[in-house]
Amino acid sequence: MPTLDENLKKADAYLARFKDGPVLNQIAGEAVPAADRGTFEVISPIDLKPIARAARGTAGDIDQAAKAAKAAFPEWAAMPGKDRKKLLHKVADAIVARAEEIAFVECVDTGQAHRFMAKAALRGAENFRFYADKAPEARDGLALPTEGQFNYTTRVPLGPVGVITPWNTPFMLSTWKIAPALAAGCTVVHKPAEFSPLTARLLVEIAEEAGLPKGVWNTVNGLGEEAGKALTEHPDIRAIAFVGESATGSAIMAQAAPTLKRVHFELGGKNPVIVFKDADLDRAAEAAVFMIYSLNGERCTSSSRLLVEAEIYDAFTAKIAEKAKAIKIGHPLDPDTVIGPLIHPTHQEKVVSYFELAREEGVTVALGGKAADGPGGGCYVEPTLFTGARPDMRVAQEEIFGPVLTAIAFKNEEEAIEIANGVRYGLAGYIWTNDVGRAFRVSNQLDAGMIWVNSENVRHLPSPFGGMKASGIGRDGGDYSFEFYMETKNVAFATQEHRISKLGG
Ligand code: NAD
Repeated sequence: MPTLDENLKKADAYLARFKDGPVLNQIAGEAVPAADRGTFEVISPIDLKPIARAARGTAGDIDQAAKAAKAAFPEWAAMPGKDRKKLLHKVADAIVARAEEIAFVECVDTGQAHRFMAKAALRGAENFRFYADKAPEARDGLALPTEGQFNYTTRVPLGPVGVITPWNTPFMLSTWKIAPALAAGCTVVHKPAEFSPLTARLLVEIAEEAGLPKGVWNTVNGLGEEAGKALTEHPDIRAIAFVGESATGSAIMAQAAPTLKRVHFELGGKNPVIVFKDADLDRAAEAAVFMIYSLNGERCTSSSRLLVEAEIYDAFTAKIAEKAKAIKIGHPLDPDTVIGPLIHPTHQEKVVSYFELAREEGVTVALGGKAADGPGGGCYVEPTLFTGARPDMRVAQEEIFGPVLTAIAFKNEEEAIEIANGVRYGLAGYIWTNDVGRAFRVSNQLDAGMIWVNSENVRHLPSPFGGMKASGIGRDGGDYSFEFYMETKNVAFATQEHRISKLGG
């Protein structure tokens, strides 16, 4: 296994290019600065030192990018699916070829540990392969014959679409949204998160080097309130696929209303992991620890609420604390690190504020509950476990988005469901029991778009991904993404000479 020093040298080499000038936008196949030459600083959460400046795109840059996407659309939409398939596989190949670079840059930009980012880069390639293979079937529809009429449906791509992504695992999430849009025949304007814009630059470069025609994929960096807002308001952009906070989703819905855009939202979560006493408790504990303390807890599907049957509550939470205590906080490029620094000082402050709140609310801080000293002195926090929480407390209701687990006891199945559903979110749920009937009953009643029984989050790309309530609108994955990025058309043929009602003459 490489050492931290070796990894640091590699990371320096990969990041050197970002010191030469700002991270540029990509518009109509050209790498360009913001029209007004504005930039913003990008810092690493490891030591808070600047690692780059990025173009600060505004409405004018978005307008250029939207026009480029509009101009590229007819040809891209008309390209046979089998040809789009070949091109998107080439993008996947090129991601694999540069996976090491992507992972190193992502670690330094986001603070995520290398052990996870190395896999995330390859998952990005898998997303492209999956949708490459689906491109030839994107237009498929149904045959709906009836007496005297033959109806068939087909799908056509929407047009140029906007994709707005968050900072937590930016590379993987961008591929997850953009690959199906391209496979469907849409052209794209991507606005990456301002806290971690570097790998979005690598991604669009990779795609164009792999042969994607100019203007099919445009990237405009900038702030949410500037470039992001302008993208959601642009009249040529037919839809917005957004991943981020629920409050931003509300703002985007309002911004996009005057131009009647279709919206797809993947938002926040406060996901329950429900552990019944008959479960395989070792596996349940392993999975709960993985789902909250991996990816720095900055994960929409993290198991941030631990609901445990009262009789085993003390023993089970002690088991969780024991495991979490052994988790290594460290430099993201250290191969042994599990928890790196959180994305930014403002986010670290938010997470730390919940430590104070927990004490005010009278919760027991069973583990952690403070900022940590990590290498570089950046935005580290300790893996944290709150026990003795009540379901109505803010630490049990609000998305903290860090390595912070809130444990709540429940008496019976009914109460478990009531607590699980008693939040504004409804993204994911995890159920641990060996009682099949109970697993069916509970999953049937949980307010969650995605439920895993006796499992952590293991993705299956054809399955729907998305949330209920304040966790989102719409589903990604498999054919669901095409439903969003395409319009369904019905064509009806008369197959007999039916009677047409005569009006007049
Ligand atoms: P955020 O909402 O602050 O920002 C996300 C993106 O939206 C950024 O690119 C930002 O610049 C942009 N933005 C901000 N204001 C905007 C506006 N008014 N108009 C247009 N764009 C705007 O989210 P974040 O803090 O970057 O990400 C963390 C959040 O993302 C968490 O809530 C997390 O749960 C959620 N998330 C959800 C999923 C999912 O699949 N459900 C996946 C990952 C992250």
